[in-house]
Amino acid sequence: MKRSKRLDRVPPYLFAEIDKLKAKAIKAGKDVISFGIGDPDLPTPDPVIETLVKEAHNSANHQYPSYEGMLAFREAVAEWYLQRFGVVVDPETEVLTLIGSKEGIAHINLGLVDPGDTVLVPDPGYPVYEVGAILAGAEPVRFPLSWEDDYRPDFSKIPAEAADKATFMWLNYPNNPTSSIVDITALEEAVAFCKQHDLILLHDAAYTEVYFDADHRPLSILEVDGAKDIAVEFHSLSKTANMTGWRIGMACGNAEVLKCLGTIKTNVDSGAFQAVQHAGITALQLGADVLGGLRDTYRQRRDLMGKYLTEMGFKFHMPKATFYFWVKTPGGMNSAEFCKKVLEECAVIVTPGTGYGPAGEGFFRMTFTLPEARIAEGMERLKKAGITGGV
Ligand SMILES: *Cc1c(COP(=O)(O)O)cnc(C)c1O
Repeated sequence: MKRSKRLDRVPPYLFAEIDKLKAKAIKAGKDVISFGIGDPDLPTPDPVIETLVKEAHNSANHQYPSYEGMLAFREAVAEWYLQRFGVVVDPETEVLTLIGSKEGIAHINLGLVDPGDTVLVPDPGYPVYEVGAILAGAEPVRFPLSWEDDYRPDFSKIPAEAADKATFMWLNYPNNPTSSIVDITALEEAVAFCKQHDLILLHDAAYTEVYFDADHRPLSILEVDGAKDIAVEFHSLSKTANMTGWRIGMACGNAEVLKCLGTIKTNVDSGAFQAVQHAGITALQLGADVLGGLRDTYRQRRDLMGKYLTEMGFKFHMPKATFYFWVKTPGGMNSAEFCKKVLEECAVIVTPGTGYGPAGEGFFRMTFTLPEARIAEGMERLKKAGITGGV
């Protein structure tokens, strides 16, 4: 059978080895605890489900939606951006509904780049930035984020020729996998750098609502003056409102860039189910009681996992946002080896940092999308097996 050359360029799935060992452990009857999955375990809030049920019964929602999304959803997004970030976006031209933000993050490449073009992607980073470029025939060029800088971008480390040649740059704060957040200065530098090098700036903001401290509320790139000249921000209700399975997200910002993405979408998909968009409106209007409750739960879990990691001597930065710990392997041990050891000896899954790029070597990622009792049990298993942050 013939298959496309572009598929040959997709990097090998780095978690295949872990998946195999996991299947083996489950088959052997072991109770596997996964700190590997970045998917909220808590249910979608009831009001969102109630809206879906009601709107699913309305036959007006049963036909093809519009590719750019219902105006009512885009208006709710604009209102949310105004309330949450103090940012004005025009719902008609500066907001696009997505079938989950991953869809837009991959498809934007088809609207902006051609074979031979390059795009700048952070290392470590969410793998879709790189694969999206590859599927469009373009070349991802990695720029490093480092532990020493707390994973804030250091634009002086990006060669000017690479920046001049590239079409766009990806940034992602709060960051997966490192949980790093940035202040307005870093975002201002990003906008200035991209303007200087004639780059489009694409910001993935999926985790702005998963924060733990009202003094460190994550920012939107669109809060930077003049950002809209060059920037588009990808957002999603997946992590904000425990809606990963619902597939609803949005892109906001530069109208010309959004038009390119919209043209791809009209030809590839027919938009998100309208009942889901109605439910999305409810999710965007959830009160501080619901979202604050979710944050409290995550904060308690974070504190518990952080307490264990500290006691065990691991090196990490305490997350201010996201549900990830990004941790140094003991003695700089190889990431894949370390994760294999933890799975084989403890039936606990942690993710090798190298799954997010070469700069992830020497690190592993742990998620706390599990009840506290399971977090404690997993950490106790590591302790008992003598796995600590020391050599
Ligand atoms: C989870 C996640 C997304 C959001 O994915 P959806 O397609 O909206 O569910 C985007 N970016 C990053 C970095 C993520 O971790």
